[in-house]
This record gives sequence, C-alpha cells and structure tokens, in this order.
Amino acid sequence: MINLFNYNQLQLADYFASIGEKPFRAKQLMRWMHHFGVYDFTQMTDIAKSLREKLAVDTEITLPNVQLEQVSNDGTRKWLIDVNNKVTDDKNGVANSIETVFIPEDDRGTLCISSQVGCALACTFCSTGAQGFNRNLSVSEIIGQLAIANKSLRSESGYDLLSVNDRIISNVVMMGMGEPLTNYDNVVTAMQIMLDDSAYGLSRRRVTLSTSGVVPAMDRLKEDCPVALAVSLHAPNDALRDVLVPINKKYPIKELMAACNRYLEKAPRDFVTFEYVMLDGVNDTVEHAHELLEVIKHVPCKLNLIPFNPFPNSGYETSKASHIRVFRDILMQAGYVVTVRKTRGDDIDAACGQLAGKVLDKTKRTKTIPIEAVA
Ligand code: SAH
Ligand code: SF4
Repeated sequence: MINLFNYNQLQLADYFASIGEKPFRAKQLMRWMHHFGVYDFTQMTDIAKSLREKLAVDTEITLPNVQLEQVSNDGTRKWLIDVNNKVTDDKNGVANSIETVFIPEDDRGTLCISSQVGCALACTFCSTGAQGFNRNLSVSEIIGQLAIANKSLRSESGYDLLSVNDRIISNVVMMGMGEPLTNYDNVVTAMQIMLDDSAYGLSRRRVTLSTSGVVPAMDRLKEDCPVALAVSLHAPNDALRDVLVPINKKYPIKELMAACNRYLEKAPRDFVTFEYVMLDGVNDTVEHAHELLEVIKHVPCKLNLIPFNPFPNSGYETSKASHIRVFRDILMQAGYVVTVRKTRGDDIDAACGQLAGKVLDKTKRTKTIPIEAVA
C-alpha cells in the first residue's frame, strides 16, 4: 500500500502520471488531505468515482495515532504520538512514541514538531539526546503531527473544518525531538507540504528549522527549502562546545559561522537566531558573554537565551535569574536583539529539551483529555 501522506505535491503528481491520471489530481488530493483534513476517499466529491475506488484499493492515507493529549495550566498542549512501526520497531520490542507541542501566544500559535525518535547527537543538557537514537520519522509521521494538532485545535475551537480560514497554528518550529538535518529528505519533503498553498500554506518566514549545526546539510537546505534558521550555539568557544554539543568536534564554531552567512544569502529572514541554553556556572558568566560577542560578530543574528529546563540526572542546573539578566544586558548593550525564552508547559514536561516520548507522570497538575475527543 502506498501512503499518500508521504508525498509532496510534485511526488503526488508523478504518482498520478504513473497510473495514467492527470497531474492536477495531485492538487485536489493535497487539498482534501491537508487543507480539509479529509482522509476518506468516498468524501472527495470532485474526484471521479472510478479514481476514488482505484485509490482506495492501491493507496492509503495513514497518520500516526495519538496516545495522549495534555493541556498545561498556561494553555500549552502536548500530544504523545505513537509512531510504532510494526515491521522495524516491534522486532526490537520498542514501542516508539514522540511528542508535539502547541504554544499559544497573543499574536501567534506555534507548533513544535519532532523529526526523529530520540537523537544521536547526544548534547549533554538535552533529555532527547540522553535517550539515544531509535530512528528517523517518515514524512507522514512528521507532517502527521501538524495534521493531528490542526484537527484537534480546530475541532475544539468549534470551527467547521471545511470553512475555517483562520490559522490557529500560524508558525511551525522544527525544535522537538531529534536533529532535523540528519533526517534531511523526510524533513524537507514535510516542510514543502507545510509551505504548499494547497496544503497548510505557511510562509517560509513562519517555518523555522533549528539545528545543532550540521554544516553540509545547512548548505543543502539553503538551496532546497530555505526556511527561517535557528542554530543551537550554546557555547562561545570550541573547547566548551565540544562538550555540550559534541557535533562541534566535526563542525567547529568557525565553520558553523561561515555556514550561517552562506545560508543568509537565501534565507527568508535577514538574520539567524542563535539559541543559547543558560547552564549555571557552565556557560553563563560575564566572560562567556564577551567571548560570545566575538564569535558572532560577523553574522547578522538575534539571540535567544533559553533557561535550562532540568530533567532527572542531567548534572546541570538552570542559571540564576540575575546571571541571565547580566548576560542578556551585555549582549543588548552591544546592539543585539536578545530574547529570554519563557518556559511554557513545564507542568506537562513540554518545555524545550524535556520531550522524551514517554507516558508521563499523571500525578502532575495536568488536565488529561481522553483520546476519543481528539480522534
Ligand atoms: N536538534 C535541534 C532541534 C531540537 S532541540 C537542535 O538541537 O537545535 C530545540 C532547542 O532546545 C535547541 O536549541 C536545544 O539545544 C534546546 N534544548 C535542548 N535541551 C534543553 C534543555 N534541557 N533546556 C533548554 N533547552 C534545551
Ligand atoms: Fe539532538 Fe538537538 Fe537534543 Fe542535541 S539538543 S541531542 S541535536 S535534539
């Protein structure tokens, strides 16, 4: 069975051509699947009945299943999504699950999407990294997270799925579990579907990919799908970054900064966002701030300081609020736009770096929604 949820519009057009159908069918199908959230071929009324019957035999539209939807006291939502692959995962006795988070704000709604089950890059302050790597997500599992969240949020808001134009999800960040650039092809195809006007129609400025700095893939991305870019810097020198973000040993800071500047030639925004996790006593001193200014001085950028979100046995602590303020002020006085990320959804373990794809401690202050309400 071919899962049509794995295809972008171009690939779908190729598929229709291969079965002797007109390529414009691809656009119709994209609209049904992604724009309207209709997965039942019998409801696709502008497609000839004979073709619908053929599609029902040869193809399927399959998304991963939601295991749990949780709502935080601050309105942040998290979906635990079952991505158990019957063929590859059951064999190893592993039940895979991933997490997707929706963060509502006054002027936007941001969905944080995962790209892998676990992560191989093993950054020492990240709970996904501590889990190790299981596998890459397929296109349908990546775009399925947007489809699931979209459907759930729309139905909850009382909008008719077929008539709503207002986007509840206005922004997507590839900042969930996994390093998106080490699952390159599937992530790019999924992002092409996010940008497609027949599907989710998001602008390239509103889709942000966050990478720990996989330099060759950054160069490819700039040609294939230049969305907004965030780079996880976290340290102002190679000795420290080698420890915190081990891929730095392969692509050190100087090479990373050069790659950022190359990326900006094609990027939809004229800056890169550097993310910097604030770890008490590790990377948060006045000296580190000045060193950081030297490192970034040739790259047009904004800075996003992320107070470390703790998880069991991490060995790190969150920087003191006063230290974060001092650090921020040094950068701001040098003329940079600096934001300090607010921790959202920490009562449901939905904050950055806490996504672990496990069934959560239900004793926490969390309202749990039964799955039937989401399906
Ligand atoms: N792999 C990609 C994207 C996923 S992580 C990357 O590393 O950029 C998204 C962001 O959360 C990254 O900046 C990451 O460094 C940060 N992060 C990871 N663990 C964290 C933690 N425990 N507290 C705060 N931020 C964390
Ligand atoms: Fe992977 Fe990003 Fe976590 Fe590093 S911070 S281990 S690259 S998910």
